[in-house]
Amino acid sequence: MDYDLFVIGAGSGGVRAARWASRLGAKVAIAEERFLGGTCVNVGCIPKKLFYYGAHHAHSIEESRGFGWSGDMSFDWRILRNNQAAEVRRLNGIYENLLNSAGVDIHPQRAELTAPKHLHLVDGAEHTAERVLLATGGAPQVPDFPGSERALISDDLFELDELPERLLIIGGGYIAVEFASIFAALGSEVVLSYRGGTLLRHFDADISRCVLAELRRSGVSVRLNCDIERLDPEGHLHRVSFAGGDAETFEQVLCATGRAPRLGAIAAGAGELALTETGKVAVDADFATSIPHLYALGDIIEGPELTPVAIAEAMNFAERAYGGSTEELDYANIPTAVFTQPSVGTAGPTEAEAREMLGEDIDIYRTEFRHLKHTLSGSEERTMMKLIVRRSTDVVLAVHVVGLDAGEIVQGFAAAVRAGVTKSQLDGTIGIHPTAAEELVTLREPLQGATAT
Ligand code: NDP
Repeated sequence: MDYDLFVIGAGSGGVRAARWASRLGAKVAIAEERFLGGTCVNVGCIPKKLFYYGAHHAHSIEESRGFGWSGDMSFDWRILRNNQAAEVRRLNGIYENLLNSAGVDIHPQRAELTAPKHLHLVDGAEHTAERVLLATGGAPQVPDFPGSERALISDDLFELDELPERLLIIGGGYIAVEFASIFAALGSEVVLSYRGGTLLRHFDADISRCVLAELRRSGVSVRLNCDIERLDPEGHLHRVSFAGGDAETFEQVLCATGRAPRLGAIAAGAGELALTETGKVAVDADFATSIPHLYALGDIIEGPELTPVAIAEAMNFAERAYGGSTEELDYANIPTAVFTQPSVGTAGPTEAEAREMLGEDIDIYRTEFRHLKHTLSGSEERTMMKLIVRRSTDVVLAVHVVGLDAGEIVQGFAAAVRAGVTKSQLDGTIGIHPTAAEELVTLREPLQGATAT
């Protein structure tokens, strides 16, 4: 065998698996046909967060007047776009260095399995490996309506030449609400069209309600239960026909309608790759697929499509394969954030999920308030904080926050939730004053009756 491990896909999961396996003594190669760092580094989390910071400044400039600042500032889209692109290039280089210094062979091209343990690379090279790991991630999926091929996907937003004057975003999940918030702050007129009735519908109902209210407050026109029928060219614009007969023109249309596993025919030569009901690669606790010696992790398998999850899977895979570990990865209570303005941070089940599991054995603590900062900023933005507690054991099941730096706040509380913190222990924690997060240790009265609104 040429290698102990051959990884296909150098995104968050693939790179970590390659590095960790190599560190544990395996001889490792990695193939990547597009860019080192995958979705997160190149067209996802990192450039999106840089755009989010850019959008945040728009709010800060506006809000600074109440604190005595004055003067005009203008925004140049190309500076933000170019600086973001330069940072992404820098990170590509860092990933390359990380792999090189871990002793991993990098093949910057497509690799496919021709048989179990046998790989064919585009340049004609053939390699063998005791284990092959698929970590090819996912790609945005676009609904099938006439003209949908004219719509942008989220990858395209990082290369736009101009800030769109009028932008239609289709979808109601993470990417739709994040980019609606970002582009509205940067100055686009944004319409968000979602086929269902609840944005972020997998989140706690209070989060969905607050995010909807804040998007509307920030000027996004949110249209719920709204379907798109077709997209036609009209000069340099797109004419969008909505179900129901209305039609409007937009400079750009973004489909933020979920992602599909990037599989292609990658494993076709090696046998029958079993898929789950949702079309993802089926794996066991070792991340082994139905094809002998072939493993898979990250966005191509079931589970949250999140970088830290892919990294945790990669570490677990490498430790089990090469480090003698028998520990299974624990997927409970995975925290997540949504980078809207204000942002969302959440750990643990939604209220609906907790009620389904425990019936009436839960207490809900919730507060909504105006952040101290906004007493002078003039912003009407609201902060929402919510705890879900199991009444019979006093254990805190979930923390949900919508507000300034919600992700930063919830990251710490997520550790406490995972460790089984009780409500009395939160009550016994002295707050840090004046902060917003101190509310989470000073909530004393549970809400009465049905709560989620
Ligand atoms: P999501 O799964 O979050 O949302 C997809 C949205 O598209 C849903 O509102 C869904 O509606 C809608 N949709 C799906 N199919 C269609 C269709 N055929 N026509 C119309 N609407 C449709 O996916 P995203 O694309 O927003 O993001 C992909 C994943 O990437 C996320 O799930 C998340 O795991 C990850 N991500 C994480 C971020 C973070 O951590 N901050 C940021 C961005 C992405 P419905 O609910 O009705 O099915």
